[in-house]
Amino acid sequence: MNTSVRSAELLLVRYGELSLKGGNRPYFERALVRNIKAACRDLSEVKVERIWGRMAVTPERRLERVARRLQDVFGIASISTVRGTEPTLEAITKLSAEVLAAALEKFPSDGQVRVRLRSRRADKRFPLNSTQISQTVAEAILPAHGERLKVNLKQADITLELDVRRERAFVFADRLPGLGGLPVGTLGLGLCLLSGGIDSPVAAWLSMKRGCAMDFVSFHSHPFIGEGSKRKIEQLVSRLARYQAKSRLYSVPFAEIQTAIRDNAPSSYRTVLYRRAMQRIASRIAGLVRAKALITGESLGQVASQTMENMTCIEDASSLPVFRPLLTFDKNETIDIAKRIGTFDISNIPEPDCCTVFMPPKPIIHGKVEICRDAEQGFDLDGLIDAALEGAERSQIAPAW
Ligand code: ATP
Ligand code: MG
Repeated sequence: MNTSVRSAELLLVRYGELSLKGGNRPYFERALVRNIKAACRDLSEVKVERIWGRMAVTPERRLERVARRLQDVFGIASISTVRGTEPTLEAITKLSAEVLAAALEKFPSDGQVRVRLRSRRADKRFPLNSTQISQTVAEAILPAHGERLKVNLKQADITLELDVRRERAFVFADRLPGLGGLPVGTLGLGLCLLSGGIDSPVAAWLSMKRGCAMDFVSFHSHPFIGEGSKRKIEQLVSRLARYQAKSRLYSVPFAEIQTAIRDNAPSSYRTVLYRRAMQRIASRIAGLVRAKALITGESLGQVASQTMENMTCIEDASSLPVFRPLLTFDKNETIDIAKRIGTFDISNIPEPDCCTVFMPPKPIIHGKVEICRDAEQGFDLDGLIDAALEGAERSQIAPAW
């Protein structure tokens, strides 16, 4: 921890795309305030104020940990740790020198560093205007570093920002990257079909990044598959729970439906029919919790069930739009994100997925919707779906940090 962070008073949060919102902006801002408070609730009370198209977040304690938490809040582009002092030129100059010195620690001592100052003056009674503040402070603090610093107003390695208000002045230079995106919940609720694979957790995360709050549904094949699969799913949800205030998981027994499909439908259509049953059940759950879309980890051409025809067959069984954020992703691109968000290692725990039960030797590649619909007439699908929903368990999963 460097000294500049230790004595910081508040965190300045810059918006991502939210700043482009016109009349709807207050709606997005309110959601961001809520999400910031929720993300920090176990660490500290935080005060959040809107200032100049940004937000000032003042934690009661643990500022550095709060800053790291904010790096997981969607809608935030970057975070600065800000130090404060009395609003006098002398105090501002002294603090600026300290913040600059701390910022310089991150650069090699022999290379040249481009620097610029930017000031804001909210208190118009302050004797200097913002340009004069920057100039005066720069003249006072830059010469001490000799040739090492070069002023460059267009492109700088360090931007030292000064913000002079009536009761206090603030100085900062660092920027922690945020995730961007939109505040979770502003786009409504989605329901993610979460398998233990690599893809669906990433699909959920990407949708959350675009403002969807997320509930999760997972289908399990007990007794064909052990309890380990269930624990793995819970671990995945708990990882994703970092990004939203509340994460609910619906765990649905699926073995009887799979057995019925195995015994009554053409074997090549099994996987597609499993998926259709999942869509039906997920649509019913979505109706109950008012989710507006289903989210899956499907990606075009990745496996036999993800051809255009088969995805058409699958989506035909859903009563809601199906979002597939990974549709055009290469596996490597998905893996990169999975590693970044910490789901990759969990997904790699070797537990079977329910769809590996009774896998047909030759799955259909170009499925036909009519054949799916016909096959489903051969057994009591509706009754089995009711029973599966009856047996579904709901749990709320706490985040793992
Ligand atoms: P993933 O890595 O997400 O498992 P995948 O490439 O293995 O994806 P499939 O196994 O064919 O693809 O599954 C396609 C999608 O169907 C998954 O991304 C997920 O959204 C959904 N799905 C598959 N199995 C289950 C399950 N047991 N429970 C919930 N959803 C599932
Ligand atoms: Mg899978």
